[in-house]
Amino acid sequence: MSTDLFCEIIAGERPATMVHSDEVAVSFLDVRPVFKGHVLVVPRIHVETLADLADVGPFFERVQAMARAVEEGLQVAGTFVAMNNRVSQSVPHLHVHIVPRNKKDGLRGFFWPRTTYDSTEEAESYAELIGKSLS
Ligand SMILES: [Zn+2]
Repeated sequence: MSTDLFCEIIAGERPATMVHSDEVAVSFLDVRPVFKGHVLVVPRIHVETLADLADVGPFFERVQAMARAVEEGLQVAGTFVAMNNRVSQSVPHLHVHIVPRNKKDGLRGFFWPRTTYDSTEEAESYAELIGKSLS
């Protein structure tokens, strides 16, 4: 039952440049990379967002391993690891972007405009709101 582009790739119904695949996650190259070597790590089971993912640990072990592999394999200085949930999420199947990075690669503040907090109190109120939701 393919419901989206990534389910089709997982089912082998659509070609992709595979990097790794196991029982938990499937990793392949983004067809429109920020930089060459930009990998998407996707859970094999269909879930739309991080909130929907029941068993987070095994999936993020794959993400961690892939981030290491991108860095070592491409001999880059670091990585950018990111996930959109619903807003700006191009495919409604959870995916983590792993983008190889180097200093002075030109990727500077290109993803999100930055803002600042009006005061320390305002910042703390945000931290408190989020912290309360952790448990
Ligand atoms: Zn899917």
